[in-house]
Amino acid sequence: MLVAKTINEFKIARKELKGIIGFVPTMGALHKGHLSLIQKAKEENEHVIVSIFVNPTQFLEGEDLDKYPKKEIADKEICSVAGVDILFMPTAQDMYSDDELKLLAPKVRGYVLDGFNRPGHFDGVLQVVMKLLNLVNPNNAYFGKKDAQQLSLISQMAKNYFLGANIVPCDIVRDSDGLALSSRNIYLTKEERTKALSIPASLQKATQIIISGELDTNIIKNNMIDILNKNVSSIDYVEIVNRDFKKIEKIELKNTIILVAAKVGQTRLIDNLWI
Ligand code: AMP
Repeated sequence: MLVAKTINEFKIARKELKGIIGFVPTMGALHKGHLSLIQKAKEENEHVIVSIFVNPTQFLEGEDLDKYPKKEIADKEICSVAGVDILFMPTAQDMYSDDELKLLAPKVRGYVLDGFNRPGHFDGVLQVVMKLLNLVNPNNAYFGKKDAQQLSLISQMAKNYFLGANIVPCDIVRDSDGLALSSRNIYLTKEERTKALSIPASLQKATQIIISGELDTNIIKNNMIDILNKNVSSIDYVEIVNRDFKKIEKIELKNTIILVAAKVGQTRLIDNLWI
């Protein structure tokens, strides 16, 4: 595996790779969720490129940019064992210049839910993903459904800007206790982790209610909020939307996403369920 730490090194290495390319962009502190994306990319492409870049423009003032977990040695090992061809780890200085041309997330999909709670977050995500897709020029780029709104916005960007890459959605990977894997889970104390399990539990409750025949989204949300309120420190949102991220009053099978964002202690966690 070649590790490229500058854009120049990356461009030279990229030129050598011929054939179908799969790309997995990450912020590092890799876990089995990331690994599942890498493995899918391995199965579906001739070569795999992974990037690790903690993108400053997607963090708001006061968020965890400075303390975002870094595990460079372990990450390299995971990528190498997984058969990654190039690991791209650029610096912020290399990726950004002063007075940049910016991308703005679309008005509806980009400014509800996480876009409302973290204004500007998705502008930064789109900016860095556009840069990475242009540098890597992959056939397929892999994104987790765990970040449902991000996945949806990136798919829209690829469509609106006629990008060449096929955006591939990947299923959420969970720990054995049900908690969705996240690099931020390491912030949780043992007690907080137990409380955080109310997040997947609220989604499971939603599933049970829907299976029982109840499709009214307000009733489902209220049941979820009851579970969360007993455990989490604060709820950012519990929302039920269609695939266009518009709120819906009745569950639409194969077109619904149920989303939760909540703080447990200081740690903000997100999770969701695609129906
Ligand atoms: P991150 O490093 O958190 O920016 O995540 C990089 C990619 O991995 C994104 O496309 C995420 O949606 C995806 N990802 C993160 N956690 C999971 C998970 N538990 N299951 C599946 N994909 C994930």
